[in-house]
Formats: sequence, C-alpha cells, structure tokens
Amino acid sequence: MSDAGSMFDAVNTYFDRAAAGSQFPQGLLNIMKACNSIYRFTFPFRRADGSLQNINAWRVEHSHHKMPTKGGIRYAEFVDEEEVKALAALMTYKCAIVDVPFGGAKGAVQVDPKKFQPEELERITRRYTHELAKKNFIGPGIDVPAPDYGTGEREMAWIVDTYLALNPGQLDGLGCVTGKPVTQGGVRGRKEATGRGLFFAIREACSIAEDMKALGLEPGLAGKRMIIQGLGNVGYHAAKFCHEGGAVIVAIAEYEGAIANPNGLDPEAVTAHRKATKSILGFPGATDIKDSAAALELDADILVPAALENVLTGDNAARIKAKIVLEGANGPTTPAAEEIFRQRGIMVLPDIYANAGGVTVSYFEWVKNLGHVRFGRMQKRLEERDEANFVRAIERLTGKSVSDDERRMLVNGPGEEDIVNSGLEETMVVAYHGIREMLKKEPALGDLRAAAFRTAIEKIGRSYLELGVFP
Ligand code: NAD
Repeated sequence: MSDAGSMFDAVNTYFDRAAAGSQFPQGLLNIMKACNSIYRFTFPFRRADGSLQNINAWRVEHSHHKMPTKGGIRYAEFVDEEEVKALAALMTYKCAIVDVPFGGAKGAVQVDPKKFQPEELERITRRYTHELAKKNFIGPGIDVPAPDYGTGEREMAWIVDTYLALNPGQLDGLGCVTGKPVTQGGVRGRKEATGRGLFFAIREACSIAEDMKALGLEPGLAGKRMIIQGLGNVGYHAAKFCHEGGAVIVAIAEYEGAIANPNGLDPEAVTAHRKATKSILGFPGATDIKDSAAALELDADILVPAALENVLTGDNAARIKAKIVLEGANGPTTPAAEEIFRQRGIMVLPDIYANAGGVTVSYFEWVKNLGHVRFGRMQKRLEERDEANFVRAIERLTGKSVSDDERRMLVNGPGEEDIVNSGLEETMVVAYHGIREMLKKEPALGDLRAAAFRTAIEKIGRSYLELGVFP
C-alpha cells in the first residue's frame, strides 16, 4: 500500500475496512461516509500595514444524524478542503465512540498564526465567525466549534463575543462554541481534557496484563518510556499527566528539532525552557536532535504523535521501535503505515478513541452553558454536610476519632473540576473496553482502529435506521 491519496481517502479506507462484514447495506454505509454540508469561502482582509489579501476558510459538517454538529477550528497555512472533510468525518466517529450526542464537523482558516499579530488574528476570527453566522453554520443547536491546531481559548472568546453581538439576548448563546476561558462560560478541565483523556486511555490499555504480555511489556504505565511529538495543548498535557502517572518521557519533538534524555524529561521544565529561549533545543541534560522526525524512531515503549497528520507513513513505519502508538493528533498514521504496524504487532490506540477527551469535555461545557449553572454548585456543600455527619456517626460508634487530614479527605464535596475529570475518566475507560470487546468479538477486524470504527458504524447505523429517511 502506498501513502498516495488524500486524508479523507485515508479515513474512508479505515471506514471501509471496518464496515466489511457489518450488518448495514452499502447504501446506508455510503450515507454515513458522506459530508452533509461543505461551506468554502474567501473573505478580504486588511493587514496591520494596510495591505490587502484574501483569506480562504472552510466549515464542514460531516453528519447531521445528531445535532448540533461539533468540531474544532484549525488555523494552518497548508490546510485544504480534503483535510477539513477528513477531520469532520473523524469527529462524527469519535463522538459516537464516546457517546457524545453530536454529529461531526470541522473548520479551518488558511493562515499561519505565527505570521499574524494578535490584533490581526482577532479580526480574522471575528470575520470568520460572521461568515459562519450569515450561512447558519454556527449556533448552540446548529454547529458548535472548539479549539484545534493553532487556536485556543483566546480565539474561542472572540468567537463567542462575536456570536453574542450578532444574536443579542439569545439565552443559550454561550453554547455556540466550547473551549472558552472559564471566565467566559468555559468549564474547568477543558484545556487539559484531550491530554488527560490520552493519559486515561494509555493507563487503561497498559493495565491489561494479557495485552501487555502479547507486546512483551509489563502491565502498568509506570516506567514505560514515551516519546512525544508536539508540545502544544494536546502533547504538553499528555506528557504532563503521563509523567505524573509514572511514565518516563525520553524524547520530545517540536518543529524546530527534538531533545532526548533516556533518564526522562520533565514536560513543565521543557515548556518553561522553550518559552524562555524560543526553542526546545539546548535543554539542560538532554541531547539535541536536529532532524525532529528522527526522534520518532528512538527506542521507547510508547510513541505519542500529538502535532499533525501523516507523520507515520509507509516510509518510516518499519523503523518505529515503540510497541504502542497513542494517537494524540488526528490522522497521524497513514493506511500504509497502519498495515506495517498491524503486521509488526504494534498496538495503535486510534485518534477516534484516544483523543476524544477534548470533545467529551466540550460536551460537558455545552451542557453547563445550556444549564446556566456551574457543575457542583448545587450539591457541594450538601454532600460535605452528609459526609461530615457520616464521619461523626462512625466516630461515635467506634469511640475513635479521625485526624484532621483524614477528615479533609473524607469530607470533600466535588467541585466543577472533580466532576468534569470524573466524567472524562468514566468515558475513556468505558469506551476503551467497548472497543476492546468489539475486537474480541470480531477478531477479523484485526486491530483497535478497525474495532473503534466498527463500534462507531454500529451506533451511527442504528441511529439512521431508527430515524428513517426524510421525506
Ligand atoms: P497546538 O497548536 O496547541 O499544538 C501543536 C504543536 O505541534 C505546536 O507546538 C507545534 O509547534 C507542533 N508542531 C507542528 N509541526 C510539528 C512537527 N513537524 N514536529 C513536531 N511538532 C510540530 O495544537 P493542538 O490543539 O495540541 O492539536 C494537535 C493535534 O491534536 C492536532 O492534530 C489536532 O487536530 C489534535 N486534537 C486537538 C484537540 C484539542 O482539544 N486541542 C482535540 C483532539 C485532537
């Protein structure tokens, strides 16, 4: 198999492989695969120096079988329509796998944010939002964007502000976008959610002794050597939580180069160094690797691509030494690489499952916005009072008293972040076992990606059959 073909072709290759032998007729499978709405537009932009240029942008709603549709907005210089379609389709399958009741979507603006001033990015973001609003491509019940590559909380705040300016008085308006700052209707834990979800995914996979034995690894995440590509939102948080969970980060790759240290790197210290020196290179105690991509081939147990798509290809897949690939980025593995990994018995935790923590917590943020109340606000004190009464009853019955530290641990009503993280953990753990059981039930699927796609296809297919076809 070659690496030729678009990213959308690659997603459909994975879909077709997983759908073979499913119960659904080809006509219905074709309906599931198609992008329902594609909006491509160009708007004029005046740069800070007065010069004029065109900006190309997209919003693709892949599947309207559940509304609203949901998916991030990417700011990248080399993005194209096939990539946005692929990313929107992945969102549909991802939402189905983690039982988040949205159809998939994705947006993109063809700019390199590093080449624009913040004031320029603000005007681009507001105009993009305005274009979406004009065509009814944004709204809490229509289509709800979120951050992706090149965007973050700052852009989401500009989007919600623009949307509310265009829709004054709309009660649920805050739910038009997720990934907002907590002070603007965001939810605690969203920024970290994709990386934290990756941690829950790999911790769960590594906890199953039978599967680790098949890879020649000991059970448990502690001590596993990990390579991270991309120290952005997803890569940084995945590295941070896995490091805290006992994994040893032996290499980190960024676009300017990579650093390696077999004794481990502290992601927080590396990030501070990169902020101060504007480069990951030169980190004390680490070896510099000028060719960033070469770091992916270093000796390790787990490889985490968390930057961009198509980094594991037919060209380098045979040289990857890690036994597990944990996909933080969307579409990092081409079908050609996938085939090589399957032949080599490398376990791949696929993007449509592994990085679903972001959309899961985006769903919680949307629910919070529609509910107009912070999670935990109503019950925190009540639960603390009940727990304190319970501890006092135990003390009275046993004649012994707990220490102040123990009391603080026992009497602890959940705050918003506790509730969000608990919902995320539950989601990632349950979804992992759903996919793993699918593979056990249908071993011909061959790997976890096909099992994840089949899980999604079954849920979406059932939904289409129940809904019927209008008119
Ligand atoms: P980001 O912009 O915060 O970070 C991406 C990082 O990758 C940047 O630090 C960039 O410098 C680095 N990078 C770019 N090219 C590289 C290269 N060739 N080698 C090494 N590093 C390189 O973006 P993000 O939000 O972390 O998204 C990263 C990936 O995760 C994307 O594929 C995105 O679609 C996916 N994803 C993001 C979320 C989310 O919640 N943000 C959710 C699910 C999936």
